[in-house]
Amino acid sequence: MADSNQIWTIGRILKWTEQYFEQKGVESPRLDAEVLLSHLLDKQRIYLYVHFDEPLQAEELAAYREMVKQRVNHVPVAYILGKKEFMGLTFKVTPDTLVPRPDTEILVQAAVERLKGMEKDSLRFADIGTGTGAICLSVLNFTPGSTADTVDISSAARAVAEENADSLGLTDRIAFHTGDLLAPIKENKYAAILSNPPYIPEADIPGLAPEVRCKEPMTALAGGKDGLDFYRRLCDEAPALLEEGGFMAFEVGIHQAQDVAALAVANPLIARTEIIKDYAGIDRVVVAWKKER
Ligand code: SAM
Ligand code: GLN
Repeated sequence: MADSNQIWTIGRILKWTEQYFEQKGVESPRLDAEVLLSHLLDKQRIYLYVHFDEPLQAEELAAYREMVKQRVNHVPVAYILGKKEFMGLTFKVTPDTLVPRPDTEILVQAAVERLKGMEKDSLRFADIGTGTGAICLSVLNFTPGSTADTVDISSAARAVAEENADSLGLTDRIAFHTGDLLAPIKENKYAAILSNPPYIPEADIPGLAPEVRCKEPMTALAGGKDGLDFYRRLCDEAPALLEEGGFMAFEVGIHQAQDVAALAVANPLIARTEIIKDYAGIDRVVVAWKKER
C-alpha cells in the first residue's frame, strides 16, 4: 500500500486489498475490503461503487491500513467494526463476547413464535449464556410485553449486553445476573428458558478457523469432551424452573440435536421435543416442552 506515487482512490485501494486478503487466506476478500472501507468512511457499500475515482485522505489511508492489518491477523470483521447486525438490530461486540451468528436467528424466531402462541399477559423468559445479549434482546424486541432474566459467567460480556440493552431501549424489561448457568435465578419460574451454550467438542477445537479459535472467547465455545456438558446440566436443572406448559429451547451444534432431545426427555418433567432445522438443512434448535399439570 505504500509503494507508489499513484493516488490511492477508493477503486484502487479496494482492488489492492482484495488481492492482499486473498493471498493471506481471508475467506471473503472483496466483501471484507468493502465492509471495512465503508465503515471507515461512514458510508453505505453502494457509495464505494459510485465513487471509485475518489481519492482517500492520508489519515483515512492510515486508518484503513490498520484495519487491514488486523483482518490479516484473523481478527473477525465484527471486532474491527465493534458491532454486528443480528435480527435486523445492531449489537455492540467486543473480544469478550462471541460474535452473534446468523444460525442463532433460528432460535430467536422459534422462541418468539412459541412465546406469542402462549397467549399469556405476562411472559418472563431466561437467556442462559447471554454474551452480547443477542438472543434475549431480540426476543424482547419482537415479543412486546415480555420480560427477561439473563445470566452469563463473564462480567465483561454482561457489561456489553447491558450497553446493548440500553441502546435498544430495553433496559426496563431485563435483569442481568453474573454466575454459573441457573444458579443466580433458581428461585424463579419462566415461560421459556433459552440458551446457545458453548457446544464445541474438545476434539474439534484445534480445527476451528483462526478467527474463532484465536480471537473469540474460549469460555463461549468449549462444551467439554463431547460438546454436550452444558446441555446435560440444563436438561437436568432447567425444567424445574419452567411454568407448566413452558418450554426450553437450545441452539445445538451439528449432529447434536438427537442427543440433546434425548437428554431433555430423560427429565420426567418434559413431555415432548421438537427439532428445527437451519437454512442449510442442519438440525439447529431443540425445543422441549414441560408437561401440563
Ligand atoms: N447468547 C450469545 C449468542 O448466542 O450470541 C452468546 C452465546 S456463547 C456460545 C455462550 C455464552 O455462555 C458465553 O457468553 C459464555 O461467557 C457463557 N457461559 C459459558 N459458561 C457459562 C456458565 N457456566 N454459566 C453461564 N454462562 C456461561
Ligand atoms: N456457532 C459457533 C461456532 O461455530 C459455536 C457457538 C457455540 O459454541 N454455541 O463457532
